[in-house]
Amino acid sequence: MSKYCFYTSCPSCENKTKYYWIHSGCGGDMKIWHDGDLECQSCNKIGFILDWKFDCGNHGKNIYLGPNPQKLINALASLSEVEMPLTLIFDILEKIRKRCGI
Ligand SMILES: [Zn+2]
Ligand SMILES: [Zn+2]
Repeated sequence: MSKYCFYTSCPSCENKTKYYWIHSGCGGDMKIWHDGDLECQSCNKIGFILDWKFDCGNHGKNIYLGPNPQKLINALASLSEVEMPLTLIFDILEKIRKRCGI
């Protein structure tokens, strides 16, 4: 069981800038577990990555969007740069593939 810094591009849009994502509910840092759950390090809210919405500032003011599968793949691939093992990234992508029916 390990968790990693969630430092990625936006899972929901074209914006390629990488961010340390912050939970809008409480301002806590977000981390990603080996199984694809995102967890707030402050209030401990947790849920699978597909069940969160993201606001990178590029969608308009306070517009939270659910992940777009292609953008989410790009975002997850970049986690290898924060040392998440590729095998875990592939496992998460497989879960996403099944959930999205792609
Ligand atoms: Zn975005
Ligand atoms: Zn929180």
